[in-house]
Amino acid sequence: MEESISLERAVELITGSAAPLGSEEITPSDSLGRVLARDVFAPIDQPPFSRSPLDGYAFRAADSAGASQDTPAVLTVVDTVFAGGWCGKTVGPGQAVRIMTGAPIPQGCDCVIRQEDTNQGAERVEIYQSLRPFENYCHRGEDFKRGEILLSAGAVLDGTALGVLASAGLFRDDVELSVRRVPRAALLCTGDELVENHVRPLPPGKIYSSNRACLWGRLTALGIPVVSAPTGCADEPEEIAAALRELAEVADVIITTGGVSVGARDAFHQALPLLGAERLFWRVRCKPGTPAMYAVCRGKPILCLSGNPFAASATFELLGRPLLAALAGRPSLCPLKAVGTLETDFPKGGGMRRFVRGCFREGRVALPQGHSPGQLRSAVGTNCLVELNGPAQAGERVTVYIL
Ligand code: AMP
Ligand code: MG
Repeated sequence: MEESISLERAVELITGSAAPLGSEEITPSDSLGRVLARDVFAPIDQPPFSRSPLDGYAFRAADSAGASQDTPAVLTVVDTVFAGGWCGKTVGPGQAVRIMTGAPIPQGCDCVIRQEDTNQGAERVEIYQSLRPFENYCHRGEDFKRGEILLSAGAVLDGTALGVLASAGLFRDDVELSVRRVPRAALLCTGDELVENHVRPLPPGKIYSSNRACLWGRLTALGIPVVSAPTGCADEPEEIAAALRELAEVADVIITTGGVSVGARDAFHQALPLLGAERLFWRVRCKPGTPAMYAVCRGKPILCLSGNPFAASATFELLGRPLLAALAGRPSLCPLKAVGTLETDFPKGGGMRRFVRGCFREGRVALPQGHSPGQLRSAVGTNCLVELNGPAQAGERVTVYIL
């Protein structure tokens, strides 16, 4: 097991150990947000015919050679074609077809002029510009060609990708897409002091568990189903081991909070060996969340985070999301990094790499006032983690992890 490692090394150990989950077949209407496991090929050309990108006239470019406002080319209008229509004629020299956006370009034509650059004539049209061949001409298959890869394995099926499927005629219930399985997550919050919200009044020395709701919210927002989240667990190694064993039956990944520090009741140090889990690391050189621990038990990853609510939420973003990304085969599950200019001084010292919650907007980073790792409320409304390596002044450039 590795001790006290960098965040990057921790992520490397996590992603190196988390084998991507298998695949399953689903219909396109169920596939929003899923990751393709196999390439999808285009069964048709898109567009299926060469078409006009504007309202105007189609003709042979050679017929407009030398044309201008003062010396227009004059062409005979032999037909009109609308979007959805079809002009069966072959257009010859000296001829034009009135054409609307999206209409198929008739045989014989190799360009389209904007109607604003003509006299918009009905039987004869004056052309005021000289066009090059294939000007204003959308070629058949210019988006994709039949037989090409339409969407590659690894593509996320977002609205755009679903639109692409539909443009190829594949958004149908008789089409099966092979997609990566979504990791099923389980949550286990441990601590003798924790009680659930239905316990009222709060007994002396107890607190309400907030990590379960917080992490459930984050996982759900990321599209990761939480298949089990039992109400709390005491700081007892046997109890924790038994709970983990049960969760491993139903989940692909287990995230825990509490009990990983150096206190006398920090029970994960005994619980994981009871399970036969292999610990890959304990302690990461960052604040908050230093005591984070990671283990694998019969192929199932177990990420154990500090119980401190802000630490749990920050290390979920920094360690939990890369873990989920590896399992799901979806790198975009990791927080996006950006650089911004600090608007607030941050006086706290210490050499340790530190993450605080902030608001990132248009390149500027504001920090909430009075924020300390034990507090969750001041993080409400923030949208990023701000990386700091000691005291920092307004105006400094900082790295943010967008949540
Ligand atoms: P631990 O990681 O067990 O040492 O806990 C660190 C701090 O976080 C302690 O003050 C705990 O009471 C608190 N804590 C642990 N688990 C939770 C939880 N689920 N919800 C809220 N606070 C917690
Ligand atoms: Mg504890």
